[in-house]
Amino acid sequence: MNFADRVNNLEPKGAYHMLARAQAMEAAGREVIHMEIGQPDIATFDNVAQVGMRAIREGYTRYTPSAGTPELRQAIAKDASHRRGVEITPEQVVVGPGAKTALFFPTLALVQPGDEVLYPDPGFPTYAAMIEVAGGTPVPVPLDEEHGFSFDLGAFDRLVSYRTRLIVINSPSNPTGGVMSPTALEHIAGAAAQHDIWVLSDEIYSRLVYDKPAASIITLPGMAGRTVICDGFSKTYAMTGWRLGYGIMPRDLAERVGLLLTHSVGCTASFTQVAGLEAINGPQEQVEKVAAEYQRRRDVLVNGLNEIPGVKCQTPGGAFYVFPNVKTFGKSSDWLANFLLEEAGVALLSGTSFGANGEGYLRLCFANPMRNIQTALEHIATALGRLG
Ligand code: PLP
Repeated sequence: MNFADRVNNLEPKGAYHMLARAQAMEAAGREVIHMEIGQPDIATFDNVAQVGMRAIREGYTRYTPSAGTPELRQAIAKDASHRRGVEITPEQVVVGPGAKTALFFPTLALVQPGDEVLYPDPGFPTYAAMIEVAGGTPVPVPLDEEHGFSFDLGAFDRLVSYRTRLIVINSPSNPTGGVMSPTALEHIAGAAAQHDIWVLSDEIYSRLVYDKPAASIITLPGMAGRTVICDGFSKTYAMTGWRLGYGIMPRDLAERVGLLLTHSVGCTASFTQVAGLEAINGPQEQVEKVAAEYQRRRDVLVNGLNEIPGVKCQTPGGAFYVFPNVKTFGKSSDWLANFLLEEAGVALLSGTSFGANGEGYLRLCFANPMRNIQTALEHIATALGRLG
């Protein structure tokens, strides 16, 4: 069959492929610990779920404005202004069904065929996909393991040019958990200003930070007019299946992105937006409690992995992933991920699910009960021990 070029290179996401394999093993009677899928292991906060269910009964089941209800856009603008310390107006907020819409649609609105787009590699697989669909040229920027998996700034300087239209950054990061330092952000902002480049800053994990907050590039001088923030409710409020995210961007761009929503998804589910309003306006202690629990799990997992001979694991500053370096085993990441699924009964992802520079790494998600993390560590240590 012939397809348009823009979809020819699209590939299934690694996590779903691994989940399907793990589920097939479970169906055959094997026990598997799931550390492959990146989503909170807790249910949506009860106050949010209750309000969402009530909203359906009360008739919030019809179309809303494409860019979101005025109430939700206003609440997001207020919350985002407060958290980032910059003024954001409701007109700059575009609500969509999932944060992915705040990645895909701004890219479609900004990138012309032939434009180069820099993005992190290893990075969230949607980045390369959306750049290709937009007709842009994906330019992967390697990450620097020793500096919290921030951009390798030497490589970045060599890759950025007058051809660059957009730079995608993600801090805290999926898959590494890395948080970019203020110095790295200033460096990227400097290049963006020099070459007149847009920055798409994926901040979906900004509330799941452990040692210190993650700075946002939008706060740097001159950046508000060239930054798109992608954020959402999936990770912070355990709402992955509700589909609710948003972008924050200059007003003119927000109008264009709103039109893309009008002509594609139409709008976000009305009751989901009502639930989102409750998530923002309701008590925030739950978010902090969950983040504190993730931090405990992170520490157990990082320490446990570093005790396994041959494994070297950085401590992630945010998100709920670790990205251990397993190069000493002399096997490909794909091979090791398969081996650990079959021999240890632990489903995790090969680093190459996130780009070619993920070779030599694995990704494990610690949004998992502590007992799963402990059992997984024991099984992984035993299996890797057999490799010698
Ligand atoms: N950005 C990153 C870095 C992610 O890890 C994810 C989800 O895994 C998303 C965006 C998409 O979030 P959503 O499920 O709200 O579309």
